[in-house]
Amino acid sequence: MNNSKIWLSSPHMGGNEQKYVQEAFDTNWVAPLGPNVNGLEQDLESYLGANAHVGALSSGTAAIHLGLILLGVQAGDTVICQSMTFSASANPILYLGATPIFIDSEPETWNLCPIALEQAIVASIANAQKPKAIIAVHLYGVPYKVDEIHAIADKYQIPVLEDSAEALGSSYKQQKCGTFGDIGVLSFNGNKIITTSGGGAIVAKTKDLKEKAIFYATQSRDAAPHYQHSHIGYNYRMSNICAGIGRGQMEVIDHHVNLRRQMHAFYVDLFQNIAAVTVFTTPESNSFANYWLSAIVVTPDVDKGITAEALRLALEAANIESRPLWKPMHLQPIFESYPYYGTTISEQLFANGLCLPSGSNLTDLERERIKKAVFGFFEPK
Ligand SMILES: *Cc1c(COP(=O)(O)O)cnc(C)c1O
Repeated sequence: MNNSKIWLSSPHMGGNEQKYVQEAFDTNWVAPLGPNVNGLEQDLESYLGANAHVGALSSGTAAIHLGLILLGVQAGDTVICQSMTFSASANPILYLGATPIFIDSEPETWNLCPIALEQAIVASIANAQKPKAIIAVHLYGVPYKVDEIHAIADKYQIPVLEDSAEALGSSYKQQKCGTFGDIGVLSFNGNKIITTSGGGAIVAKTKDLKEKAIFYATQSRDAAPHYQHSHIGYNYRMSNICAGIGRGQMEVIDHHVNLRRQMHAFYVDLFQNIAAVTVFTTPESNSFANYWLSAIVVTPDVDKGITAEALRLALEAANIESRPLWKPMHLQPIFESYPYYGTTISEQLFANGLCLPSGSNLTDLERERIKKAVFGFFEPK
């Protein structure tokens, strides 16, 4: 039997990507601008709706960095950030010399806990330092508690940077993720819901703000025949080659989201009679999740040798990749000295959680292999 590696999430081409890349070569638009860049931005704008204005950038991390700059974050400021996330959500806070304040997850969506969020804001204001921004993440494509989080942000008038890197194709009350924040961020890295091999985008609420983002992303060049600069610039624009891949991917995005959701349904079915495992599922009928990665929580039973890590090793032995959930930022060596508000929800999720193969390109045979390995592990011992 074919025992090749089953990946967590690997690139899945739709078919027309090379056509757009070939066009870029044929017309010599081999540069960080061109028709594919404009085309991808238009595709994303019509996909997101809600008056989204999209600037294509070199990565999601670059988009978060520029987003914080556009929200006015400077050295010495504080920025609130979800603790349970990928480090790229938080690193740009430090690029700017600002201080992160980390917030625990709530148990339903695993995203920003509204209670801890408000505690952090109230304490910061009492300390005469109102946070400059809130970074909210839709973890694994599951929307955060949009109404509750934005009600708090509005109450204290703090802008939200919506890290939708994992949530392109997810929505809340029929509105697409990426369009809720004052600024939204998308990622097209190789393992994300769609890929441009590497890339990202910033989603702005106005055309002016989009143009400002692109201005900063292209070295902040003033209008002059020579190179004239009155702002710090960045080299963050997406290349026309990468954007060509993105245009092909946008043709198949809804289909691929559907296939990811079928993987999630496969796991719900697979684990339905395994009491030790809970499959992470959106709690609300208002939420539509792309299930970028399917995740589970294992209730440990050490006597029977059942832990998330033991399951991970059993899958690895069958050449199936799985991975612990994101290690919370407040537990990371680089971030552990910064303030943290909350209890131990994210720590418990990290201790007992696992992401499972979730790609839109997995085959029936691969699903059979996963099933066999999982049942083999949970067989009564
Ligand atoms: C992938 C990811 C990013 C960063 O995107 P890149 O395009 O890899 O720079 C940011 N935040 C989250 C939550 C991510 O998963």
